Amino acid sequence: MKGQPLVVYSGPRDLEPVVREALGDRFVVRWVPPEDDAVAKALRDAAVFLDASMRVRMTAAMVDDAPDLQLVVTATTGADHIDGAALARRHIPLLTLKGQTHVLNGLTPAAEHSWLLLLACARSLPAARAHVIDAGWDRTRFPGVMLRGRALGIIGCGRIGQWMARYGHAFGMVCRGYDPYLTEWPEHLVPTDLHALLAVSDFVTLHVHLSDATRGLLRREHFEAMKPGAVFVNTSRGELIDEAALLDVLRSGRLRGAGLDVLGGEPDIAHHPLRRYASEHANLIITPHIGGYSPDAVTAVLRFSAERVVAHFGGAP
Ligand code: NAD
Repeated sequence: MKGQPLVVYSGPRDLEPVVREALGDRFVVRWVPPEDDAVAKALRDAAVFLDASMRVRMTAAMVDDAPDLQLVVTATTGADHIDGAALARRHIPLLTLKGQTHVLNGLTPAAEHSWLLLLACARSLPAARAHVIDAGWDRTRFPGVMLRGRALGIIGCGRIGQWMARYGHAFGMVCRGYDPYLTEWPEHLVPTDLHALLAVSDFVTLHVHLSDATRGLLRREHFEAMKPGAVFVNTSRGELIDEAALLDVLRSGRLRGAGLDVLGGEPDIAHHPLRRYASEHANLIITPHIGGYSPDAVTAVLRFSAERVVAHFGGAP
């Protein structure tokens, strides 16, 4: 490799200036569209692949065809889209966001969206909006829940769960958490066992990763144990819960409402029973997995990832 190292960047094009600024003059930056063929071709001259595309699959063939490649950085926590074994064979480091808690903890869009769903259920926002669109103006149809003094139950008290506790505390709520793996509990979050949490919480919000151990974590018995009139929020994964049981407790009127940003089997949701229910009932709000999707957050992780390239090549840009 001669001259300045070439960094091939695949990600939002409008964020290319962020990459250039973070890398400085020591590197040549080439933006490449998030298509496997285009990236494969560009990598033939590259020293670094900086990936924020969420789409490109980096195969062993691509790695083998990139003789000057020295580093791969992806602005994602997962790296199943990259053939790590092929990189390891060439001793090329692969840097991901996994474990970079100081960056990840500062990313709040998923928690903010969870809070939005909670508030929208508390104030019957979709129904109130539809009422005005129909030229109605009758507030007695939309009694709101006062959050101050209410109980917030947080299942999974990691990054997002702890933001929910901060928001809950700021709203004057009593926050309880269930998380069998958490060793250090933040102030204002009271460790509680799951059944006790479900029995007393006016709002229950789920923030757990999907794995074989957590699939189906909330079963029918859990939904039936929730406090009558409670609101349930899930922005984690649809497969964490018994969705049929959730539908039943919504239908029966036991729950006041639910806010979901995720559905089992998404994105093929046309025939999903919860989607069908939501099309006829305003107490179920579903959004299309938009919680974490924010250019602000992408900018932050991209800048961090580009700075890691600089650090790898030995210091300031
Ligand atoms: P995290 O790893 O920081 O926290 C997860 C917590 O769950 C951990 O503290 C862990 O100990 C706990 N946990 C594990 N098993 C548990 C169990 N059986 N019962 C209770 N708690 C358990 O994760 P995070 O960053 O807070 O993310 C939480 C979820 O949010 C993930 O599913 C993630 O995929 C999802 N997410 C969704 C969006 C979106 O766009 N909707 C965006 C970002 C993250």
